[in-house]
Amino acid sequence: MKKILIGTHNKGKFKEIAYLISKKYKKISPVSLKIKSPKETGKSFKSNSKLKVNFFSKFVDYPVISDDSGLCIKALNNKPGIYSARLAKKHGGFFKAMQFILKKMEKVKNRRATFVCSLSYKNIKGKIDTVEGRLEGNISSKILGKKGFGYDPIFKPLNKKITFGQMIKIKKIKMDHRFIAFKKLKKKVKI
Ligand code: IMP
Repeated sequence: MKKILIGTHNKGKFKEIAYLISKKYKKISPVSLKIKSPKETGKSFKSNSKLKVNFFSKFVDYPVISDDSGLCIKALNNKPGIYSARLAKKHGGFFKAMQFILKKMEKVKNRRATFVCSLSYKNIKGKIDTVEGRLEGNISSKILGKKGFGYDPIFKPLNKKITFGQMIKIKKIKMDHRFIAFKKLKKKVKI
């Protein structure tokens, strides 16, 4: 069976990416290979996703896929953006980070936000393909739902009445920023 390394330590992301990749591949996690994550020194989603795929591919002789993603909130100058995971770390978890965001946005009328995902795939010859997926939505006024991961409970996709935290997992996986990026990647590589 062909193998692919899904270069992430984030369980939520791993599950989503694994679900999207063909059943022909055995999906390997860096956790099972005892590989740590690289430092995200890039200044953009794109540079970080490339940095990750380059890092993880040093350890294996099969293809690697990695993403860098985050939540860009218009009223907060597109923050936390590439710092989404770091914001949660700083506040002691996602629940506290979401509380922090909602507090900052208490009186904010424009609640527009975008989930962004830069997805990079590196084949065994060393060729990298990078694509981007974006999903528009709004920040809810409360933390709603327990499904999903990360900032899902405060993100309401446009034209939806519920947050990703309230949405059935499969429904979210088939519409989010990672899915949009993955559809683009599938046009470039067989995966
Ligand atoms: P990184 O790509 O490892 O820097 O982490 C991205 C961070 O963005 C995650 O830890 C989550 O906080 C957030 N994030 C990315 N995609 C999603 C999503 O689909 N739902 C909720 N949060 C997400």
